[in-house]
Amino acid sequence: MIDFELPPQVKQARDMVHMVAENMMRPIAREYDEREHEKPWDFLNAMWEASKATNPVSFGGGAKKDPGAPSVRNLQTVVSIEELSWGDAGLYLSIPNPGLGGAAVAAAGTPEQRERFLARFRSGPPKWGAMAITEPHCGSDTAAITTTAVRDGDHWVLNGTKIFVTSGKMAAQESDGFVVVWATVDKSAGRAGIKAFVVERGTPGMTVVKVEDKMGIRASDTAMIVFENCRIPLDNILGSPEVQRSTEGFKGAMATFDATRPAVAASAIGIGRAALDFVRAELEKQGIKIRYGVSRNKLTAIERDFMDMEAALQAARLLTWRAAWLMDQGRHNNLEASMAKAKAGLAVTQVTQKAVELLGPLGYSRKYLLEKWMRDAKINDIFEGTQQINLLVVARRILGYSSKELN
Ligand SMILES: Cc1cc2nc3c(=O)[nH]c(=O)nc-3n(C[C@H](O)[C@H](O)[C@H](O)COP(=O)(O)OP(=O)(O)OC[C@H]3O[C@@H](n4cnc5c(N)ncnc54)[C@H](O)[C@@H]3O)c2cc1C
Repeated sequence: MIDFELPPQVKQARDMVHMVAENMMRPIAREYDEREHEKPWDFLNAMWEASKATNPVSFGGGAKKDPGAPSVRNLQTVVSIEELSWGDAGLYLSIPNPGLGGAAVAAAGTPEQRERFLARFRSGPPKWGAMAITEPHCGSDTAAITTTAVRDGDHWVLNGTKIFVTSGKMAAQESDGFVVVWATVDKSAGRAGIKAFVVERGTPGMTVVKVEDKMGIRASDTAMIVFENCRIPLDNILGSPEVQRSTEGFKGAMATFDATRPAVAASAIGIGRAALDFVRAELEKQGIKIRYGVSRNKLTAIERDFMDMEAALQAARLLTWRAAWLMDQGRHNNLEASMAKAKAGLAVTQVTQKAVELLGPLGYSRKYLLEKWMRDAKINDIFEGTQQINLLVVARRILGYSSKELN
């Protein structure tokens, strides 16, 4: 039987998170959009205390291995992220948590590594994790990574430059966090030579050289990090150091995205829903009520536009929930994660632009948050694989092509 009803505990969590979004995030959303690079410490500390109490693990970290045991952890995560992003996507991304780095540890680390790197998120002061893949000349084409990891006795030595690392400054410098760095141990092996390494905060040779000024999600820091003869312990590599002929090891690292793409999709939906709620409320003030159940040829253009926007978000939400649900079942969700991300990233950019268009000056004015949501939306079509890259993944999975055959 197909059941689209959210379980009671998920609904309860959603309602609680919505209260946080409405009462703690919305009131400071504009302020921290304008005060980029400053941190809303009261909010961050409150969120940290709350998350410690609920024993956080990373996206995908709760995926059940035992098909007999029920789990809703990833479903609950995406539902909660939608609410937080309805409150403010930039603030949501700045909340202390294991982040993408934690997701990589959960996806590719051993049980010992998971405990070693993730236990810190259960106690002490706020902490952040981050993941550094992108380089000045390589983003989508991860096989082109030039950062190197060379074995030297009991250490790996990392050299290279990483850009646009979300929460990079907080993870590398400002808290007892870590950065997961993708580097090649053998350039001639292409993808098979790429491995993920955990670099602890403050490791000599890891330097945050810049924090970006951005169009949207300005409450979230995005850093450039340079690694110069950065020495890390041998057992900070996630997965096997062996370079196999196949890309099996690389696939392990890529599994991180299966967990994080539904999270990005959920964030996109939250922003889109914020825009739709605002448009509905403003239209109602003008005496325009969306008439559901009326045949399409009798609807006004605004009503049709509004319903199309709602449908796009709803479709993205169902894909996202399915991708999360598959994770909860311990099943592969590579196709569904990319479908959700591609659909939600596109939907939110279109919905927020249309929302600004429908409201005209109200949408464009900085007096309201709608213009900000339009700016915040676009990132969902860029990070964690662009729109085009996620569509490529979908095509590969459906048609049965490898990344070599379809790129
Ligand atoms: C705010 C922000 C936060 C970020 N956070 C992180 C982070 O935490 N960690 C991290 O590692 N990176 C992060 N990134 C980087 C982000 O993941 C990359 O920007 C993204 O993967 C695209 O890479 P690129 O910018 O090099 O673009 P490119 O790969 O150069 O792509 C440029 C354009 O070409 C298209 N394209 C590329 N290849 C193909 C193809 N084969 N077929 C069709 N079209 C193609 C792309 O879709 C895109 O539209 C962040 C970026 C931003 C803006």
